[in-house]
Amino acid sequence: MKRTIIENPIDLHRALWWAPAGDAIACELCPRACVIRNGERGFCSARINSDGVLYAESYGRITVSQLDSVEKKPLFHYMIGANLLSVGSYGCNLDCAFCQNHIIARSDEEVPYRELSPEQLVAEAVEKRVSGIAFTYNEPMIWAEYIICVSQYARKKGLKIILNTNGYIHGAARDDLIKAVDAMNIDIKGFSNDIYNELCDGTMRPVLETCEIANREGKHIELSYIMIPGKTDQPDMIGRFGGWVARMLGTETPVHLMRIHPDRMLQTSTVTTDALGAARMELMSSGLRFVYMGGTGNDFGRDTICPDCGRTWVERRAVTVEHQTVKGEKVSKHCPSYSDVKVLSRNGICPGCGRKTNIVENPVFENI
Ligand code: SF4
Repeated sequence: MKRTIIENPIDLHRALWWAPAGDAIACELCPRACVIRNGERGFCSARINSDGVLYAESYGRITVSQLDSVEKKPLFHYMIGANLLSVGSYGCNLDCAFCQNHIIARSDEEVPYRELSPEQLVAEAVEKRVSGIAFTYNEPMIWAEYIICVSQYARKKGLKIILNTNGYIHGAARDDLIKAVDAMNIDIKGFSNDIYNELCDGTMRPVLETCEIANREGKHIELSYIMIPGKTDQPDMIGRFGGWVARMLGTETPVHLMRIHPDRMLQTSTVTTDALGAARMELMSSGLRFVYMGGTGNDFGRDTICPDCGRTWVERRAVTVEHQTVKGEKVSKHCPSYSDVKVLSRNGICPGCGRKTNIVENPVFENI
């Protein structure tokens, strides 16, 4: 991302997780391990070396903010129906060929932003009477210092911290950030290191480790598996993905199959609804209990159904939302929102068979 070199580093926030590397700096936040020379930014465009100090340049810089529902992240088993203040900044540490938010994630030009301190962001969330703050739109991992600071104020106000993330982070940064969040939707771009290399310029193992560590730490996790025709939709790949989820995260982990739309460098067709259905069956035969369909343009595959007796626990209907625009382009334009959500289970119990649900209920949700 081209941007004028900073004039006043005092205005910037000193980064965590880096070390000097000769006359440069080695950033230790993510597996890309950039070595950054004086005056330059890392691959993600969010961190800059100024005179031998690494700064988290995007700290507090907000390019997009919007009120939306927790279901839009998507999180279907967490704080159902909760309203969130969703915010994004700029930059990304992957380079996905199909990125729908490349205008902020991998832009070559400066993206307009406003600056909010952690206290100001939390005050805005409180004023808007939301249940939490979601860090989304661009990659939140590269915003880790800001998120950790926000979480300290947010917790005092009873607000949840939610990430919609690629999970591409490692080491102490990952441990510190995971402690600060309550729930995450983590993208799986395909269950193959080759896919990560070819389509995202990254590697898969660190992403899986992030899922496994967050799960061990007791954080709420849901996964979005990206369905790309001819790349990530083969039954054997989906079967291996399902086996890993069942083994490492548990069969109750919600998985969202996300049909991508042609965008940026990947002008492919989308997978068919039949292919999505076949992938869903493959995952369920791996033992997964909650597999949802995303990006279908309708409500099919969105309800939460009891895996034991088939009774509906939660009904969801997509609604059209006004998308934010940045430089004339809509942000997250393929993601539906859900304001019409009905919870039919009671107190975490299936009304049909008495099975305990795995849903984190929302104490302030009124549409029951
Ligand atoms: S966080 Fe950014 S600067 Fe640091 S290693 Fe990753 S891509 Fe490079």
